[in-house]
Amino acid sequence: MFVLYSFTVMRWTLFIDADDTLWENFAFFEKARDRFLGWMEKAGFVRNEVDSVLKRIDSERTHEIGFGSMGYREAMRRTMMFFYGKTGRRMSAADTALLDEVQKSVHLHSVALYPGVAETLAYLREKYPLFLVTKGVEDEQLGKVERAGVARFFRDVFVLPDKTPALYRGLAGDLKVSAGESWMIGNSPRSDINPPAEIGMGTVLIKKERAWDFEEVPLKHNGRFYQITDFRQLKEIF
Ligand SMILES: [Mg+2]
Repeated sequence: MFVLYSFTVMRWTLFIDADDTLWENFAFFEKARDRFLGWMEKAGFVRNEVDSVLKRIDSERTHEIGFGSMGYREAMRRTMMFFYGKTGRRMSAADTALLDEVQKSVHLHSVALYPGVAETLAYLREKYPLFLVTKGVEDEQLGKVERAGVARFFRDVFVLPDKTPALYRGLAGDLKVSAGESWMIGNSPRSDINPPAEIGMGTVLIKKERAWDFEEVPLKHNGRFYQITDFRQLKEIF
């Protein structure tokens, strides 16, 4: 008696997110926010109120202001104007300097890879073509990729203005790979899971304890889905 096994070697193509997937990013925005809220508190405004206005303005960024540190600076500036407008207070040179400083602290933050990222990328690259797909402002994102020293693991690096089903479809089309043979791996349901799942890609969510509210929307995967907590666990999946 014997059992006949049939093996299929899959030719996957892996798309991988960068911020908060390969390295910490959100924490730097949180620090920036903290600093801004402290500044507004000193100016006499209620911290929680400022925070909720900032969150609302920040969540509208996709369409109008854009992502990245300049987008965050603009969200802070608009929040400031909103509260100053209520009291007739004018923005001072010190206010502008604070916004500039906070923006710079986000822009220039170091990019330390999470544990095991480099060796996991080295392992995956041996088996599948890897493409980095990150959302944001091109020079800022490419600067981080360079400082992190990860470009060597990827066939190519793509910086998208947003992560939508149409942009994922375009990416797969340009590379002549089918969605059914592709996977997107990242930390954000909003950006890395739902849109690629909608066009038929497999998805892997790397769930972080702390996350940007904006990216936390209900998961809509298509069944070809894994959820992990550590980048190194990709070796068990692929
Ligand atoms: Mg991310």
